[in-house]
Amino acid sequence: MCGIVGIADAGGVSFSLYSALYALQHRGQESAGIATFDGAVLHKHKGQGLVSEVFDESLLASLEGSVGVGHVRYPTTGEKIPENIQPFNFRFRGKNIAVTHNGNLTNTADLKETFEKRGQIFCTTTDTEVIGNLIADELRISGGMEDAVLHCMRILKGSYSVVVMLDDVIWAFRDPLGIRPLCVGKLPNGHIVCSESVAVDALNGTFIRDVRPGELVRIDATGITFRQIAVADHPAHCVFEYIYFARADSVVDGRLVYDVRRHIGQALSENETICADLVSPVPDSGIAHAIGYSEASKIPYREGLIKNRYMGRTFIMPTQEARENAVRIKLNPVKGHVLDKSVVLVDDSIVRGTTSRRIIGLMREAGAAEVHMRIGSPALKAPCYLGVDMPTRKELIASDKSNEEVRKSIGASSLRHVSIEALISAIGMDKNDLCVGCLTGVYPLAIGCEQCSRRRVELIGGTYQSNLGVFKEVSEARTSTK
Ligand code: AMP
Repeated sequence: MCGIVGIADAGGVSFSLYSALYALQHRGQESAGIATFDGAVLHKHKGQGLVSEVFDESLLASLEGSVGVGHVRYPTTGEKIPENIQPFNFRFRGKNIAVTHNGNLTNTADLKETFEKRGQIFCTTTDTEVIGNLIADELRISGGMEDAVLHCMRILKGSYSVVVMLDDVIWAFRDPLGIRPLCVGKLPNGHIVCSESVAVDALNGTFIRDVRPGELVRIDATGITFRQIAVADHPAHCVFEYIYFARADSVVDGRLVYDVRRHIGQALSENETICADLVSPVPDSGIAHAIGYSEASKIPYREGLIKNRYMGRTFIMPTQEARENAVRIKLNPVKGHVLDKSVVLVDDSIVRGTTSRRIIGLMREAGAAEVHMRIGSPALKAPCYLGVDMPTRKELIASDKSNEEVRKSIGASSLRHVSIEALISAIGMDKNDLCVGCLTGVYPLAIGCEQCSRRRVELIGGTYQSNLGVFKEVSEARTSTK
């Protein structure tokens, strides 16, 4: 997962990009970067750490220009090496290009091999560099970004929301299935394209709309234009954005994430037979789900755990035992709320089960009589290949265990997940318009030996003149997956 942003604003962009990245920090905490263009020179700064750790005022002041792009990274492919920090930038035929990407390509290895056979060298281990190369390859032939993006949509497999700065123009596009989010907003003196609407809000902008799956957006000093490059019979929006990843105050593909989570919580409370004293969230990820549960069940909402807001990622622990105890510093049970009580504890998801096991342990040590775990996602059965950092099947606790086995393993008095049907109804979209690969093991595109419910994609861009010969193999593979 990653957060991406592009801004064109007559008044300068570096401080706005910084604010937008701050608003998108939840999408990636490993590294951050900004590239701007001042009409002649590309300025950039990137580094490992949080946005607040990577940038300071004088650095931002040195990033001059009225267009720019930014990125926060949460690596799903590529190692944690400085070369992989985005924006990925290069010069090509006198033009300055900076590429930012959110998503995960599933045919990176094939594409890299094709390029390498031609003698192309790669400086990073990211799929973003492959996108940069594809764009440059097509720009070399036709010279136009519309053709370059059409070329990308023909060749790339997987998920990709991309924002590119090409000298003084920002181009942004979303894969034909719209797997990862992307939206646009109006700023007082320009426009923004970004992963989530909270970045538009952070700049006091006006949300315009989500970028459509398969759509290309162009932003510069003169304004904003849109062009549909590809159309799928059904999109495949990621359900995990609604469950966990997006900020609760974002509107993603027309749905306020907070309300989706509240509705999930309401659905979770249906047909309950337990008699609980209070509903508590696992902070912060379970808050909106727990509020929905409490509203519908009429069981009082009471925080049973308080999160230490100031515990950073760099908290130093001398021993393994101390590291395992770190959960006590991060989360402290409110003994007065849970002692001798039957508690419904609500979280968004169980991945490996470690968090739930530790938190339930804390609640029991604090004297809770019963801890009923309620989860705002269906059981996670399969890995995500499309941009959410999720472990392999072996590490996913629910992939080979029954509900009862998972309950025992995490030590809960009872365990229930929301059903897939209730999740889809809470999101309020047609089930065929969502990617539920992590819940069912059926993905919206062909990935290795995994099961696939294919979408048909039509390319509708105009003057396509790609050097298809070079990518013949890959193009054929893609055609055969339709
Ligand atoms: P686990 O201990 O592996 O079961 O992790 C579950 C917790 O991690 C839940 O409380 C979620 O809020 C959070 N979570 C879920 N998915 C992710 C993810 N892809 N990256 C980081 N945290 C996650």
